[in-house]
This record gives sequence, C-alpha cells and structure tokens, in this order.
Amino acid sequence: ALPPRLAGIVQGHAAATPHAPSLRDPDAGTVDYAALWQAVQDSAAQLRALGVRPGDRVMVVGENCANLVALIFAAGLVDAWIVNVNARLSTREVDALRAHSGARIVFYTADVSPDARAHGERHAAMAAAGPFGPWLVGPLNQDCAPEAVHVDGAAQPAALVYTTGTTGQPKGVMLSHRGLAYVAAVSSRLRGLTPHDRAYGALPTSHVYGLASVMLGTLYAGACLVLAPRFTAPGLLQSLQDERLTILQGVPAMFARLLELTGDAAPLPNRLRFAYAGGSPLTPSLKAAAERLLGVALHNGYGMTESGPTISQTDLAAPRADTSVGRPIPGVALRIVDAVGADVAPGQPGHLWVRSPGLMLGYYRDPAQTAAALRPGGWLDTGDMGRQDADGALFIVGRSKELIIRSGFNVYPLEVETVLNAHQAVAQSAVVGRTCADGNEEVIAYVEPDARADRAGLVELLAAYSARELAPYKCPSRIIVMEALPAAATGKILKGRLWQMAAELPA
Ligand code: ATP
Ligand code: MG
Repeated sequence: ALPPRLAGIVQGHAAATPHAPSLRDPDAGTVDYAALWQAVQDSAAQLRALGVRPGDRVMVVGENCANLVALIFAAGLVDAWIVNVNARLSTREVDALRAHSGARIVFYTADVSPDARAHGERHAAMAAAGPFGPWLVGPLNQDCAPEAVHVDGAAQPAALVYTTGTTGQPKGVMLSHRGLAYVAAVSSRLRGLTPHDRAYGALPTSHVYGLASVMLGTLYAGACLVLAPRFTAPGLLQSLQDERLTILQGVPAMFARLLELTGDAAPLPNRLRFAYAGGSPLTPSLKAAAERLLGVALHNGYGMTESGPTISQTDLAAPRADTSVGRPIPGVALRIVDAVGADVAPGQPGHLWVRSPGLMLGYYRDPAQTAAALRPGGWLDTGDMGRQDADGALFIVGRSKELIIRSGFNVYPLEVETVLNAHQAVAQSAVVGRTCADGNEEVIAYVEPDARADRAGLVELLAAYSARELAPYKCPSRIIVMEALPAAATGKILKGRLWQMAAELPA
C-alpha cells in the first residue's frame, strides 16, 4: 500500500531503519532516515509558522541539497504544493513561474547556489534557519489564494512541475501524491533498488526526472541519494570513487560530458550495477562509448512531466544493443494512433497515447491545453511519435510538433540528428524545419562542433557526409555552426528557440 502523502515514504523508513543513510550532502554530510524525517517535520512546522496554508503553492528556487529535499516532503505534509524551479533560469523566467504559480512564499537555496542567492536578493528575501543550514526566504505573498484541498489527500497535487520548455513556454503540470508515489514505487522495483544502493543525485529535483524517478525512487527503496547541487563531469568522476555509487541515472548530456572529460580512456573503476539514461534521445554512439567507459549496461527510459514521468524503460535483466526505450512499465497502457486517433498497423510509427496511474491532474490554470492533452478515456497524447517492434519494445521517432514535411516526405529531425551526432566533428546537433516562400518545408541543422574539431571547412564536410548518409529529402539545406546550442539545466536543447531562429533566417 502506498502512503497517502509522499512524506509517508520518509516516515516509513524512519520507523523501520532509522539509522540507514537517506542522503549524502556536501555540507550536511550523511543524513539518516530518522534525521530526514525530523527535518521534514521541522520544515512543515516552519511552513505553518510562516503562514503557509493548505492549498498554497510553496516555491523553491534552488539546486539540489538536503534542505530542499526536506522542504519538498514538508510542503505536502501541510497540504501545500511544492513548486521547485531551477536556479539557473533567468530573472524573467523565474518571475514568470512565480507569477503563474501564484506562490505564497519562495525559498532560495542560497547556500549552495550563487544563482539562487542572486534571485533571492532580488526578491528581498531574508535569511532564515533551515534544518540543514540557512535559507533565504521571500516575503509572504498576501494575494495568494489557496486552492481547494481534496478530501482524499493522496489525490491532490503534491507538486507543480514545469515542463522543460523544449517546444515553447514551460507548462505547469499538477502531479498528485498518489501518482508520484506510484511511479516512484514501480521505478524503484524495476531497478531492483535496495537499501544498500547509493544513487547519484545531481539531476535537478526541479525537473520531473530528478524529482520522481531519482529522488523519490531512491528514497522509496530506503536507499541513499548522493546529492550534488549541480552536475559537473569532474564531480561525477569523484563521486563514482569516493561515494561508491551503485546506480547512475542521468540524461544523455551527462554521459556525453563525462566522456569529453575522460576521453576514450580505459574503463573507469567503479561499483555501478548499471547506468540509466532518459529525458532525451540517446544515440547509439553515445550509448556504446558510455558502456565502454563505465563497464556496465546503459539502459534507456522514456517519460515526460505529464506522465509523472516514467512511461517505459528497458529491462535490467536484458540489456539492449539498440536505443529502444523499452516496454511500458506495469500499469501503463500504450496506444499508437494516426492523426484521427485510430490505431496504426503493428510496427508502424504513430502518435503515442498513454494511460497511467502517474498521469497529471492537468496543467495548472490552463484548461485549454489540458483538454488538448488529456483525451476521452483517460488517454494522454504525449506529443511524441514512436513505433513498437514485435516484442513490444518502443522506439521514439520524434515529436509530432517537430515533424518536417518536405516535398510530401516525412522527415524526423531525430533521425537526421542521430546521423550528424555520429560524426566525430559534432558534439551535438539540433534539426528544425523552416517554411519556405512556396509553402514547402526545408531542413535546417544547427551543429555544436566537438571541441577538437577544425572549424574551417566544417559545413562543407558535414554537407558531404549528410549527402552520403541520408536520402536527399532528409539532407539539411543549411548547416549552421553554433559554439553552444541553447540548453536547459538538464542539458536538453531548447529547440523552440532554434525553430524561431530558423524562421527568422534570411531567405
Ligand atoms: P515542453 O513540453 O515544455 O516542450 P519537454 O517536452 O522537453 O518540454 P519534459 O517533460 O521535460 O519537457 O520532456 C519530455 C519529453 O522528452 C518527451 O515528450 C520526449 O519528447 C522526450 N524524451 C524523454 N525521454 C526520452 C528518451 N528516452 N528518448 C527520446 N526522447 C525522450
Ligand atoms: Mg513536453
């Protein structure tokens, strides 16, 4: 049985294994489950004392640390919703989310993050004690109206999680205690996590992957989460040794950064049982290189904020050589449909629709987008396209919004990106469409060169390479070199910005 509030996860382990380590934090050291549960209760008392009511939104602008983990659980304990946003967002972005969420109060993890400190100082926040060190806490927002509290506590929002904003403005996704606990329980079971595991906790809890699959999944199992305020490749290298990590979950960009640092070195000594990628497409070359470096299988999983997040993952007992995202996890139903919602023939690509106990309650303050995403029968239209092989393994082919139609042919940017990324002169790439004067769409590739690559003649080199590797209609009509592609805190490329830039290119 799942506890009615997420905090029940911590409470349960505090009762059963009070001295087992729950967190490792660079400042707080080792925090056991008893201490974490005490911190959650203290934070809950602090929230009440500060004037937070049931149904309020409690925002935290921060990077991973023990104070933040305690606050996430504490907010739910007082029936408020946690709104965790990344300190690396710009002033404008933080202000927009603060306004959209109508937060009652804002906490800043100033101690671990200069960016969070800067946001806090701008918002006239004051120092206040937290369970593991000081916070900055902003003034109470008197205009905040609490949302209704559900009679069934488990069904109410525990978190308002903003999507990455890859395709446009981030959307505020309401995830319930029950939905998050379900996905945490299933991911922890499918990963075979035990209290002896030590999982890497550098993925930001402001993103659903870091929050639900990593933080909640690890703590659900009574294992230890090794927190890092921000991912760095040297930091990961050190944690692999000093913290004896057994589980490494990350986004593809994390593995790419690690490989950049180590080069094609001999396998790294480590104690990992497996590694796990998700959140954006994994390329075959990155998967193979990361597996050589780490000496364990790199698994793949697919999900999105709206599904809380896990939809599918590869089977730990059966590592794959390809980049399938695996089969739907227990409880998740999948349909692959055409433009009018009819099932496609087996093996064919189509729009992915899912049903899951983890699905969002809706987008906050956005009934129109909610109605567009949540279809009759409880199906979520993921906005992604994929196909399933005869064994049920799912392959993501791209986002439906990103599909480029060129001379009547479908071009999936992901396929073109995969080819470009396999070239040794390319660190990463992003392919977008652009409507030409005649209404046709052209394929534009933005390329971030590898640090060691020769810039001179790069465009010609990649054009010739694309022409060899891709059908003519898939070849980029322009290749644009960019030293750094715009990226979110998780390393995900913000493609909406590139679509915009491509639209503004001279004809
Ligand atoms: P926004 O919805 O604001 O445009 P976003 O969709 O990137 O941003 P997230 O919810 O963080 O926001 O990301 C979910 C998306 O990431 C999925 O819909 C899918 O397109 C992509 N994705 C996640 N995991 C994988 C994976 N393993 N392989 C390929 N794509 C993935
Ligand atoms: Mg999305």
